[in-house]
Parts: sequence; C-alpha cells; structure tokens
Amino acid sequence: MILTRCRRIQELIVILMFAVTWCLPTLGQSSSEEKAYVPVLPSVKAKFWKIDPALGYAVKNVGGGVYVISDNMWQSAFLVTDDGVIVFDAPATFGKNIPSAVAQLTDKPIKILVYSHIHKDHIGGSAAFKNIKGLQIVALQSVADFLKEMNDPNRLLPNVTFQSSKTITLGGKTVELTRHFYHSNEGDLFIYLPQAKFMMAVDCVTPGYAPFYGFDITTNFHEYLKMFDELSAYDFDTFAGGHLTDIGSKKDVEMTKEFTYDVYNTVKRIHNNLNQEAVAAEAAKTVGADNEFALFKAVLDRVADDSVRELQQRWIDRLAGVDVWLPSHVWTALIYVRWDDKE
Ligand SMILES: [Zn+2]
Repeated sequence: MILTRCRRIQELIVILMFAVTWCLPTLGQSSSEEKAYVPVLPSVKAKFWKIDPALGYAVKNVGGGVYVISDNMWQSAFLVTDDGVIVFDAPATFGKNIPSAVAQLTDKPIKILVYSHIHKDHIGGSAAFKNIKGLQIVALQSVADFLKEMNDPNRLLPNVTFQSSKTITLGGKTVELTRHFYHSNEGDLFIYLPQAKFMMAVDCVTPGYAPFYGFDITTNFHEYLKMFDELSAYDFDTFAGGHLTDIGSKKDVEMTKEFTYDVYNTVKRIHNNLNQEAVAAEAAKTVGADNEFALFKAVLDRVADDSVRELQQRWIDRLAGVDVWLPSHVWTALIYVRWDDKE
C-alpha cells in the first residue's frame, strides 16, 4: 500500500517535471511580440552596474568630487565640495536614499538640489529632502511655475529660479546650468561641471541604447536634433543621461546623433519619394474612396513601415533596444518631416 502510494507520488513528480519543462520556454514571455525582440547586446550587458539588492542603488566616483548614483534604470549625481554638497535630481525610485548615500561618503551637508526638468520619475523623490534646513532647490522659472500649479507633494517647490542660465559656485567648484528644450515642454538643463569635465543632460542619450520611446518622448524634435551639437560643444569626458545601465562619453553622444539623423534622413527620403496618390488609390479599394482619414493613414503607415524595415537592419547590432522603440522614433521623425520641415 505504502509502496504503491510512493510510486504514485514518484509518477506525479515525473509528470509535473515534464509539465514544468514543457512550460518553461513560455514563462516570462507574455506575448509573441516580446518573444520577437533581440537580446540586449552583450557589450551593453557587460556594463550593467552591480547593484546590491538590499540597497537598491550603487554609487560610482567619476572624479573631481562627482558621484553618479544609479539603480540601472534611473541616474542622479552629486558634487562634493569643501562647503557642502550639490545634488542633481532625486528620482522617484531611489531619491529617498540619496541623503544617506551622500552621508556615507562625506560629512558635508547637502546645500543645493538642482532639478533637470519637471518629470516626476527624475525629481519625484525630492520629498526626502524636505527636512534639510536651508536647502536651496534650483530650477528654471518655467519648471517652478509648472510645479507650483501641479502642487505635487512628491516634488518639492524650487526656491531659487532662473530664466535661461545660472552659474553656481560652492566650495571652489563651479556648476553651469543652461536651458534647452530638447525634450520637456518646460525646459531641460545641461548641467556642466567644468573642473570635473562632467556633463549631465537627462533624457536625450542613453549610452549603449537607442533613445527611449519617440526620441525620449520629446515635445520638440527640432530642438532635439540641435541638442547633439550643443552638447558636443562642451569639453567633457563623462556623460550622465539620467537613465539605464551606464554612464557614457562624447562617443555615445555622437553615436546617438548618428542614429537620430539616420532616422530623420531616411524617413524624409522615403516620405518625399513616395507616390502618395498610388498608395491612397490602392487603399481606397478596401477602405473606400470617401474614408479620407483611412487613406491618409495608409500613406503614413507605408512611410513608417518602409523606414523601420530599412533602419532596423543598419542599427540592430549597434545599439540595444532598437527593435523596441524604432517604430516610435520613425513616427516622431515623420510628424516633423511632414508638418515642420522644409521639402
Ligand atoms: Zn523626462
């Protein structure tokens, strides 16, 4: 009896093992679309930071008193000077840990917090700085206006504002802040630390990767196109883009520029050479000649599809995540080419 039961259990275990093995290839893949993505490039994977899961972030000394903090998804940074510490952004994920991360490395107090732009993923952890006495929160006036209107308890209000540029000096160190509009409506900062040859510009370049959705959800692709040369005009060795798995250098800015201009020029060429009437006439056979929105969509879809097909071949082995976001980049470029650009 006992033997029989044992055998039954053994049989059951064997059946379960087969079931698990059979199911394994589908685990972690919620759709056929996800299955289709190429793996992250090994060269990029090799640069993932080692994050202590108990801590949730890691800190890297990049020289000149500058430290970058990352959880492999968001980045912020801080500058240690003889007279205190300046923090750049407080992401929603690990912002609460920044004061203790700073205290691990210096006994100097945090004196200034700088906001790169309004987005809550980058500054939504600032509430952790609420009790720091005399803290200056520095941001563009346009950023302060937005945050005042939003009245979000997770994003402390700036108390030092400026219009287009500001130089901060503390403990003999200099921080140059300049306003740009490459990504967010209310403005984005270049945060430049000349002594450390360090540049932080959030949401434009993600070293090793294609930009995030629609060229970093830019609200101004025209300014985004100009941003690369504006960045390259600075003398820096280390670049922090606010996201993903590593910091970069000028080479990453140049590569993202090459990718972005390839997308733009390809979309423009395909759009301008397309026989739109022929595509619309073909579509009319199925959607009807009176459905003008559907006919127009057929034209735009053709430009987008042809562009993605051509660009993906050129970039899939050069930047990670190209297949994830390329269709969105193509649409951002297409809107610009069709409505803003000259012929
Ligand atoms: Zn952003």
